[in-house]
Amino acid sequence: MLGLGELVLIGLLILIFFVRPSGIFGPSDEKALGSKAVEERLEEGTIQELDDESIRRILQTFSSCTVLKFPDHRLYLAEQETPNVSALPGGYLVITRGLYELYRKGEVGADEMAGILAHEIGHVELGHGKSAALRDFWSRGLKGGSDYLKLAPGSNVWFKLSKFLLEKQSSRREEYEADRYGLALVYKAGYQTTGLKNFLIKIKEMSGAHPKWTALVSTHPHLDDRIQELDVHIEALSETGKLAF
Ligand SMILES: [Zn+2]
Repeated sequence: MLGLGELVLIGLLILIFFVRPSGIFGPSDEKALGSKAVEERLEEGTIQELDDESIRRILQTFSSCTVLKFPDHRLYLAEQETPNVSALPGGYLVITRGLYELYRKGEVGADEMAGILAHEIGHVELGHGKSAALRDFWSRGLKGGSDYLKLAPGSNVWFKLSKFLLEKQSSRREEYEADRYGLALVYKAGYQTTGLKNFLIKIKEMSGAHPKWTALVSTHPHLDDRIQELDVHIEALSETGKLAF
């Protein structure tokens, strides 16, 4: 026999998945979730704020050329050697030391950085982190009972969700969606559309000489497929001004 807590949970579950009222988990909740995850990493000392004028300019170009749900991006630096960027809900972008050094040395150019950042903004704007957090919330909530109804910033549930976000990896479908979103964004902002593709090719080539980077390639197992699909869209954009699909 189901208790009241479980019944309410199931009701909310149905609402979220089938009716999807934006008010239940709106942009301010997404922002709070991302900010909580950032706060934890700042406290652990694994990231620090990054003040880089040229990267800031790229982000401002994106925010001014289109309407973004989260136009105010915050930039952080993670002390990791593998070149990568990760995005948290609400527009918090974490660049690794490895990528930042390549950028500073000019081995990763402005158009490539724009392509990488636009892809991450895609994850943010399309709410990929939020969807994953909600899935985690419900799957644990159904097991954990009524404690999980306390979805309020600062609560234990919020803490668990932000921990989960730091560990999550994007699905294959999300990667392709973010690639398409990012390409449309760099095109609109006037950057070269080949930036992300060139970076992915570079990563593939460089990972041979950097055994530690294999982790990066293995977390992006469909690199060749992505490069191929990016090519299809890049061609379509140059011919028609639109993505191929
Ligand atoms: Zn991605």
